Amino acid sequence: MVKYIFVTGGVMSGVGKGVTTASIGKLFQFRGYDVEAIKIDPYLNVDPGTLNPIEHGEVYITEEVWEFKPVEGFSLKISEIDQDFGSYERFLGKNMSPEQNITSGQVYLSVILKEREGEFLGRTTQIIPHITDEIKKRIRQVSARKKPDILITEVGGTVGDIEAMPFLEAIRQFRLEEKKEDTILIHVTYVPYLDTVQQQKSKPSQHSVRTLQGMGLQPDVLVARAKKPLTKDVLQKLSLFSNLPPEAVISNPDIDVIYELPLFFEQQKLGDYLCKISNLPIKKPQLDEWCNIVNLYKNAKEVVRIAVPGKYTQIVDSYISIQEALRHASACSGAKLELQWIDTEPIENDPKALEILGKFDGILLTPGFGSRGTEGMILTAEYAIRKGMPYLGICFGCQLLFVAFCRSVLGLEGANSTEIDPNTPYPVVDLLPEQKAIKTKGGTMRLGGHKVILMENTRLKEAYNKTEVIERFRHRYHIMPQYADMAKDAGLIVSATDETGKIINAIELNKDFLIMGVQFHPEFKSRPNLPSPVYLTFIKEALRYQKLKKENIKNS
Ligand code: GLN
Repeated sequence: MVKYIFVTGGVMSGVGKGVTTASIGKLFQFRGYDVEAIKIDPYLNVDPGTLNPIEHGEVYITEEVWEFKPVEGFSLKISEIDQDFGSYERFLGKNMSPEQNITSGQVYLSVILKEREGEFLGRTTQIIPHITDEIKKRIRQVSARKKPDILITEVGGTVGDIEAMPFLEAIRQFRLEEKKEDTILIHVTYVPYLDTVQQQKSKPSQHSVRTLQGMGLQPDVLVARAKKPLTKDVLQKLSLFSNLPPEAVISNPDIDVIYELPLFFEQQKLGDYLCKISNLPIKKPQLDEWCNIVNLYKNAKEVVRIAVPGKYTQIVDSYISIQEALRHASACSGAKLELQWIDTEPIENDPKALEILGKFDGILLTPGFGSRGTEGMILTAEYAIRKGMPYLGICFGCQLLFVAFCRSVLGLEGANSTEIDPNTPYPVVDLLPEQKAIKTKGGTMRLGGHKVILMENTRLKEAYNKTEVIERFRHRYHIMPQYADMAKDAGLIVSATDETGKIINAIELNKDFLIMGVQFHPEFKSRPNLPSPVYLTFIKEALRYQKLKKENIKNS
């Protein structure tokens, strides 16, 4: 028997519903249950792959490439999914399938294609029942394929959004179709703190619960995000107005280490309460392993300072997996991460602005698309090559590291990626051969998990200590092998390729400190207790560099 848990949001978005959902899943894992997650995104995009990260946050890449095939003769490949899957995979320690990200785009597309096939012949095709049936079918499909004990479904957006209505209606029906104890509804709201009266305010949450009730949905648990834990007074008010016992109102305050949230929920006995209302036996949770992980983060003594130049630095969510992978690697090296985002556009007009990089122990160059801000990104790579400081380029960052090397070491003036400058005299990064004929943008990049073959006597091979690994990719362009050959004598090493040997998957420079670029995204496989070997090596090098810098200052 599967227990279905639905998580909705109220008051406003961006309050960390994904981390809350993942933490609730963790409570069941602590009790030995197998947990899977679904995320519903009410936007009309088929997947988030075409969305700008500034608007929507990071695009997460799964290992699996899922074939979305609503009817015979129509199929799309999906591996680009919502960033909340990063939280699910990191907290639950397992890989998810793109099938678990249900968007309005997929649901409507399926229904319309089926209508054309004649599946609803003679009937008016409508939101209820056709769209709602399709939504319920997709949820049950995941349940049937994965057979978890607990299937937790997070609904994106906030209650009251027009585009989320069909999903909430589908959940209402779903709850009626299942046994009462087999579904739980958790509503996550925000409780603001009003400075002028120095009080937490429960009214927005009350309204949000009422909106939900108006749609026929009574929450079983209310999780309230707030700066501080809820005061007794506010907790009682929320309990009274939400029709819930006080133990069903849970505090979700700001915390330094997000991995501590499940433990914070445990303290409030949320795990036992969820088991009680769903008729599951009350078991003692196994918390030791997770406590040890959290302690790694809390007890880190050293500090490692990393600069992250990029073009989507306005919101931290655009590189959330990179940030977490850096944190994992730092904590596992006994260090606390101090990260600074650096917008590369201003650097282009004032190269002196580069000097700011001198105060860091390492630089990570981010993934990206298009030409805005890229000259500044290339300048940071040239800086690192000049100074010999630890540097890690991810995907676009790897391609731009190669551009910087071609320009500053090989002297190929104007060298560039054809993505940035189609008329460059030296197209050192160009489209993958199979990409040349592709004109449409959605889901057409080289995506998902691919084999990476590691070369002997390289730092990358040393990092993984394996001859081949699977890593996740999302790109159209690649480093041109003929230019990599030219760069060999100048100290550039190709440290990994694909299985055919034709696609360069990683480069590194023959320098004292690590300067490396990887065409793949190792951040998506990094876990709080199992950092990515690439990130771990980078952070260890940054700490080694910091030590040397300190010694040099002492000696001078
Ligand atoms: N824009 C580059 C490409 O398509 C890099 C993509 C990325 O950084 N994910 O190859």
